[in-house]
Amino acid sequence: MYVARILYPVKVLGPGNRIGIWFCGCPRRCEGCSNPELWEFQDRYKTSLATVMSLIEKIAQVHSVDGFTITGGDPFFQPDALSRLLEQIKKISDDILVYTGYMKNDLPVSLLKNISVLIDAPYIKARNNNCCLRGSDNQNIYVLNGKYRAVYENYLSATENQIQNFMTQDGIISVGIHRPDFIF
Ligand code: SF4
Repeated sequence: MYVARILYPVKVLGPGNRIGIWFCGCPRRCEGCSNPELWEFQDRYKTSLATVMSLIEKIAQVHSVDGFTITGGDPFFQPDALSRLLEQIKKISDDILVYTGYMKNDLPVSLLKNISVLIDAPYIKARNNNCCLRGSDNQNIYVLNGKYRAVYENYLSATENQIQNFMTQDGIISVGIHRPDFIF
């Protein structure tokens, strides 16, 4: 599997202190994509589920993990890897939010059953109007797990998009929903 980043605590892509996981690979090439460096499968990001889970478990041993946010790239471009990861991380928290450029109805039900919140559809730069959790307002938020309906309704009504910067070995990684004029 190809995973470029695992960051914690991500506070700006869903409620609470979350583990953020960035998959590589996306065929869509949306204009204005904030992570074009993750479009290709790069060798340096090739890893294994065991390594990814080892990192996640180390975080979860010493920190409270309120949920996961999986983005990229497009996680559904690696459906088998995503499926295996979902089976593992739901044992830590089943508040799993996944971004994708595919449409929900085109995705396999076998994967959706382990996702609590899905944000679907390609990014459209002209429709980036600072809507909460979404890069553009054509994207849809589906709360698939009813257990989290009230949590996300409250979050969406009370929260404004914010940016959070992480210092990593690749330099500063800016996380969150960025406006089109943001300079990375
Ligand atoms: S679907 Fe997402 S990751 Fe893929 S090009 Fe569009 S904005 Fe970028």
